[in-house]
Amino acid sequence: MKILLVEDDAALRGALEELLCREDYQVVKASNVRSAQAAMTSDIELVMLDVGLPDGDGVHLCRQWRIEGLQTPILFLTAKDEELDVVRGLDAGGNDYVTKPFRMQELLSRIRALLRRNQKDTAITRSGITLDKTKLQASRDGEALPLTVTEYKILAKLISERSIITRAALLDALWDVDSRFVDDNTLSVHISRLREKVGGSHIKTIRGVGYQWVD
Ligand code: CA
Repeated sequence: MKILLVEDDAALRGALEELLCREDYQVVKASNVRSAQAAMTSDIELVMLDVGLPDGDGVHLCRQWRIEGLQTPILFLTAKDEELDVVRGLDAGGNDYVTKPFRMQELLSRIRALLRRNQKDTAITRSGITLDKTKLQASRDGEALPLTVTEYKILAKLISERSIITRAALLDALWDVDSRFVDDNTLSVHISRLREKVGGSHIKTIRGVGYQWVD
């Protein structure tokens, strides 16, 4: 498994490299936007991306890669308390983030979760709930779950991505498919109904950011 590590803090970069190598990941390092672009190849399976880089912004780089069609999971490394960076990063197509200083074990478990993801499946099962992506139906332990179309779409987005989904990204997803305006308050209502149907503990609220599926 090859990971591209983009971080300009040499001490942190060294520590992360050592940690990742111990876990048998292959690490490709970059310390700025330019070298990160040069190092990005199709065999990279995960990108760890610092936001503040000497020659640019990790969020812009992420957005650029997504525009170019890159689907590799991107994990942002954000500075402490920069909630705005988190929201920007996720909206730019990032999949998850860790806030510095982070615990190494937490970082490794986030990395494993992102690498396990496989969005190409037509059916996906989490915590006993199965989504049939071709029929747009959900079931729990084989029994159909009565969801509205909007609830299904929210659930599908949360379950299949498993990373934190911002409220804006959810609203975008709903808008795209329904061409019907779902506002912020309506989204909260849909989420609370969905929680009643699938179990409240599975849908975690990330304050000020959005929601995340929890197995
Ligand atoms: Ca930095």
